[in-house]
Amino acid sequence: MVNEQEVTQLAGILGYPLGHSLSPAIHNAAFAHLGLDWHYVPLMVEEPALGPLLSALRLSNFRGLNVTMPYKTTVIPHLDIIDPLVELAGACNTIKVDAGRLSGYNTDAGAFMRSLRQEAGFSPQGKVGVLIGAGGAARAAAAVLAQGGLAALHIVNRTRKTSEELREALISAFPALDVGLRDRNHQLKDVFEGADIVVNATPVGMHPDEDQVPVAPELLQERHVVADLIYRPATTLLLREAEKVGARTVSGVHTFLYQAAYAFEIWTGRAAPVEVMLQVLRAELGLQTTERHAGGAANPSPGREDR
Ligand code: NAP
Repeated sequence: MVNEQEVTQLAGILGYPLGHSLSPAIHNAAFAHLGLDWHYVPLMVEEPALGPLLSALRLSNFRGLNVTMPYKTTVIPHLDIIDPLVELAGACNTIKVDAGRLSGYNTDAGAFMRSLRQEAGFSPQGKVGVLIGAGGAARAAAAVLAQGGLAALHIVNRTRKTSEELREALISAFPALDVGLRDRNHQLKDVFEGADIVVNATPVGMHPDEDQVPVAPELLQERHVVADLIYRPATTLLLREAEKVGARTVSGVHTFLYQAAYAFEIWTGRAAPVEVMLQVLRAELGLQTTERHAGGAANPSPGREDR
């Protein structure tokens, strides 16, 4: 085992391929702010090397990993300890390496809930949700909404099979939750009329396709909290349309910020300097530093991005 007092501790983002990542700048600024001798690096690894790499990291000065595409699910069998949210979401985005053991977490889930609470004062207790998408991010969002006491969830997804799988997982974990499925092109007026929260967990509207919306904007109402998991652009067309009808909106930038903060805390055991991380994130995204809310993003530069 590496003596952690004598060597720089490492954290990083694991994926393949890796494009420009926002995470090194955010975490390295946080380490520096707290005077920690830690460093965050990109770790681009091809699939055959995933198992051997994780075995090697157990015996190294690596203390933490973020996990991105395509490994959020495939890392799970390599872990020793799995947080219940990883199991529910079927995805792990954060690994802690400690005393030769690998523990897996899903910080997207908690981060999403924190963003709803802090940015819109939203609590899911007894509420009705519409979830657009049924992939990894959708599963994490559904799991925390259900954990928070959501009464009913309508899943709207392009592929029926994926939404059926999500419904099965939710019903078995939360038998009291009423889960309905709708096709994307189906008449959706009734489900939106009865909903309190609308969540986009698809990439529809993400840079560079910023002129797209995942559902017709006419469905949005003032009573909705509309949350988009996309963080580039910080304010998607869906959120702009929601703002027009007076709905409260929550940008994916907040989920991104808080998932990083939770990961930082899991690895270091220290409170994350969230304001410092937010400033770096805003700068990386080309947002005005004086803005409290994530809206009004300047047009970011093109290119693939991972966490
Ligand atoms: P994923 O596992 O690949 O799931 C994508 C989902 O979007 C699936 O349900 C897919 O439907 C649907 N979809 C994809 N393209 C579509 C299209 N053209 N039209 C309609 N539906 C489409 O991806 P993910 O990891 O869940 O990520 C989803 C989004 O959340 C991405 O934009 C990602 O950047 C964002 N995200 C943000 C954060 C954050 O920190 N803010 C964290 C995680 C993810 P099918 O089932 O039909 O394929």
